[in-house]
Amino acid sequence: MHGGGLLSQTYDAVIVGSGVNSLVCAAFLARAGWGVAVLEREDELGGAIRTAELTEPGYVHDLFSAWHPLWVGGPAHAELGDELAAYGLEYLNTDLPTATAFPDGEAAFLLRTAEANAEELDRHAKGDGEAWGRTLESFFPNADLAFGVLGTELWSRSGLGLGAKAYRRLGRRGAVGFVGELLVSSRDWLTETFRSKRAHGLLAPWVLHTGLGPDAAASGFMTQVIAVAIQEGGMPIPRGGGAKLVDALVALIRAHGGVVEPGRDVERVLVEDGTAAGVRLADGDTVRAERAVVANVTPTQLYGRLLPDGAAPTDVSERGRRFRYGRADMQIHFALSEPPRWEGDERLERTAIVHLTPGLDGVSRAVNEADRGLLPGTATIVVGQPLTMDQSRAPKGAGLLWIQIQELPWRVKGDAAGELDVGDGTWTEELRERYADRIQARIAAQIPNLDSAIRKRVVLSPADLQTANINLQEGDPYSGSLALDQNFLWRPFAASPGHATPVKKLWHIGASTHPGPGLGAGSGTIVANQLLEPPLPARALARARGLVRR
Ligand SMILES: Cc1cc2nc3c(=O)[nH]c(=O)nc-3n(C[C@H](O)[C@H](O)[C@H](O)COP(=O)(O)OP(=O)(O)OC[C@H]3O[C@@H](n4cnc5c(N)ncnc54)[C@H](O)[C@@H]3O)c2cc1C
Repeated sequence: MHGGGLLSQTYDAVIVGSGVNSLVCAAFLARAGWGVAVLEREDELGGAIRTAELTEPGYVHDLFSAWHPLWVGGPAHAELGDELAAYGLEYLNTDLPTATAFPDGEAAFLLRTAEANAEELDRHAKGDGEAWGRTLESFFPNADLAFGVLGTELWSRSGLGLGAKAYRRLGRRGAVGFVGELLVSSRDWLTETFRSKRAHGLLAPWVLHTGLGPDAAASGFMTQVIAVAIQEGGMPIPRGGGAKLVDALVALIRAHGGVVEPGRDVERVLVEDGTAAGVRLADGDTVRAERAVVANVTPTQLYGRLLPDGAAPTDVSERGRRFRYGRADMQIHFALSEPPRWEGDERLERTAIVHLTPGLDGVSRAVNEADRGLLPGTATIVVGQPLTMDQSRAPKGAGLLWIQIQELPWRVKGDAAGELDVGDGTWTEELRERYADRIQARIAAQIPNLDSAIRKRVVLSPADLQTANINLQEGDPYSGSLALDQNFLWRPFAASPGHATPVKKLWHIGASTHPGPGLGAGSGTIVANQLLEPPLPARALARARGLVRR
């Protein structure tokens, strides 16, 4: 389409970055006939989705994200799934999506049907099965509202529409109560709902995957959403690795005439008369955009690098530059000579994601230690086992583990266990490896053949994550703290919530924006929908404005 490079090309939309939100936004626009260009600064496309033989030949690792329930359960997959399948994207799933293995050798499982979960929870405490049934009974009738919060531009007519729907269905007090319940913490919801500490320890680690801790506002709502989503959707992964999703999206965009270019660092959004007109690349090229510039970047980069001084009001720019990041993350990849052999429940060997934690208080303590700048003594360990679904990712008879630690400080002040010398507090190679040793020893206590089976271990520290993807600032896998003042209605931040920016035709997407991180591609879908929405007739608009004022 553009022969000698992008220089002086004009597109309908230029999209900065090639994360899943960008690719989905580009896919929707390209299918609707827009000319789109996606520009990615790294040599690899896909941002936090990357698949590679990181350890040894034949071992196919998802370096960062790996689990696709949010994608498969999301609106973009519903719309694009068939077309993507034609480009080779195939999902595998399991009846054993997740479990927690406790230090005493006991384990609790979240399964794929309401009946199986009731039975499993009753096994730990009689009555908890019924409590799960009651949870589902109250969740399902308003599931459209719950998922609506996560799939709607809240500061818009659709957001107002969602509020009106809740009001019509639940009445004023009911709607206020519904919103109030969204704010409950995971601890309060879990301890009020289930008697067994096993049930608490099964579900509490999942709040970490939403960027929250179990004592944070709204973490109870997120725990319920995730638990229901896993029961209903399982733990799907693409055959061959997460990059298959990226490959299929890129193929779809290109088939519809779009351009996707790696190695293209955007350094400036061009603003003319208060309107985004295109971008300038670090190599000096400019690419013009007639209808939209869509930036999948952090607020820090948007307001601190891409926008020229004065393009946005000072309070917005300053607040954007002060956007806060959440806890940092470490990934550990193991290539094993044989499959891991778990102690205890035989189902653990077949379970996609096993959390290792002492329980709800253990998760809470590790979160608190990380928040205070300490390396947790007993971090919550996510043991991912993609081979339980996709054996193509390792040589026959071998093993492979995807390990994630989500409770780490970016600047390390000390070690809660009092063992490691943290030096100047930065993530040096030495600190990374010694902390990974602690994690490995804890996993080995539950998987006795781990140490002898290791062929190679590769660890990615928070600093390595930031180097790999500029959106993972401070090693935060979720591109920004999800504390209430940077979440939901207020994401990315209260002075500029939502996806429209103070610069006309400039849109902000990505994990830093609502509905936050994850592979659901929520922000890319929301912005594509807004761009493709037919303009309202002027009279209807005036009427809507009048209504809002009243
Ligand atoms: C280690 C890890 C594990 C995770 N695990 C899961 C999981 O299993 N399941 C799940 O649902 N979610 C998971 N997540 C979260 C999820 O992967 C991310 O929230 C999501 O992929 C973010 O997508 P995005 O579109 O916002 O942008 P990103 O994937 O962050 O991509 C942004 C891209 O923009 C590029 N870019 C930025 N600035 C510029 C510029 N100026 N010019 C050109 N390019 C630029 C970056 O290089 C990057 O490639 C995980 C995240 C991490 C980091």
